[in-house]
Amino acid sequence: SSLQSSALARVKPSATIAVTAQARKLKAEGRDVIGLGAGEPDFDTPENIKQAAIDAIHRGETKYTDADGMPELKKAIVAKFARENGLTYDVSQIHVAPGGKPVIFNALVATLNPGDEVIVPAPYWVSYPDMVLLAGGEPVTVVGEEKDGFKLRPEVLEAAITPRTKWLILNSPSNPTGAAYTQAELQALADVLRRHPHVWVLTDDMYEHLVYGDFEYTTIAQIAPDLIDRTLTVNGVSKAYAMTGWRIGYAGGPKPLIDLMRKVASQTTSNPTSISQWAAVEALNGTQDFIPERKAAFEKRRDLVVSMLNQATGLTCATPEGAFYVYPSIAGLIGKTTESGVVIDGDSTFAAELLNAEGVAVVQGEAFGLSPYFRISYATSDVVLEEACTRIQRFAASLR
Ligand code: PLP
Repeated sequence: SSLQSSALARVKPSATIAVTAQARKLKAEGRDVIGLGAGEPDFDTPENIKQAAIDAIHRGETKYTDADGMPELKKAIVAKFARENGLTYDVSQIHVAPGGKPVIFNALVATLNPGDEVIVPAPYWVSYPDMVLLAGGEPVTVVGEEKDGFKLRPEVLEAAITPRTKWLILNSPSNPTGAAYTQAELQALADVLRRHPHVWVLTDDMYEHLVYGDFEYTTIAQIAPDLIDRTLTVNGVSKAYAMTGWRIGYAGGPKPLIDLMRKVASQTTSNPTSISQWAAVEALNGTQDFIPERKAAFEKRRDLVVSMLNQATGLTCATPEGAFYVYPSIAGLIGKTTESGVVIDGDSTFAAELLNAEGVAVVQGEAFGLSPYFRISYATSDVVLEEACTRIQRFAASLR
């Protein structure tokens, strides 16, 4: 009999973590590799946040807390939702876990029965379909086409809903495309959801603070308050505060759901690190001054990358509203041949050959459910990005 459980056998390892590991390995072998695979801000965690963690250690805040987060952090999260999103949650409606990823997993494990469907708009963050599978549910992929800004159209949502649909997952701004939904676009999706009261909404707002130009960020519970009793609003400190290693994510939602999620946490992880929780309190309650500065730096990088990719032979790159990703199309390169004689038959071959020829690590669109594209994370310095885009241009021009 197989060592692997049948539930895990349905799951693939994370493609983005695999690309990052591959780039690290080639680097260790002495290759000159630029990794644009990881979804992680290159900025450091702000000093005041680090200090709050150090102070917590010195105060002896090093013990178990409540399984789904300590009251001080839940209060800071309640205040954040009120201040930034116009959402009113009670502390009893807040869940804290070791990252946004486990928040989402806890919600899925708490609610899915075999055969339950979860609508996952593609291009999707790599973990959604696999977390659904691991939780025993069935991911139902629907596509947001490039011509629609990679966003889910209301009629496509309507057609995907069945009596077995438990959740719709929304992610705005999106990993991997950077696309963000306008208020009107969210309202159109809310209209569909109003016709289907059995469908819950999980909105992953991890990149909320990274929107550019005059784009106005909104989340669905804010613009459709009538849906709040079936909406889980997920967020975290990883991306906004450059705290990926601290592992704190959180959500606000209806108390019956939050109670179930706490039950999952109480028998699996128990609480997220007490020290990280104190750091997150400072992140949310302390100064927010560095957010606009960092956002401006990301916006500049986005513009640099979009412009350089659009100058590459056979590539086209849409300008996304937010996050720190772009999702260029390689449609113009399909069928061409590399100098070493490999035919570019799709984005997986493209990514592998780009890494081979130029040492630039990107993630193939196949991993995100929409080809032929690839994802670049531009959360790295301008100098590195310019060099990476120059290499991509050279690679694209070398194809015959
Ligand atoms: N949601 C999205 C869309 C993400 O891109 C990520 C991280 O890459 C997460 C959630 C997970 O965040 P965390 O590191 O807090 O688990």
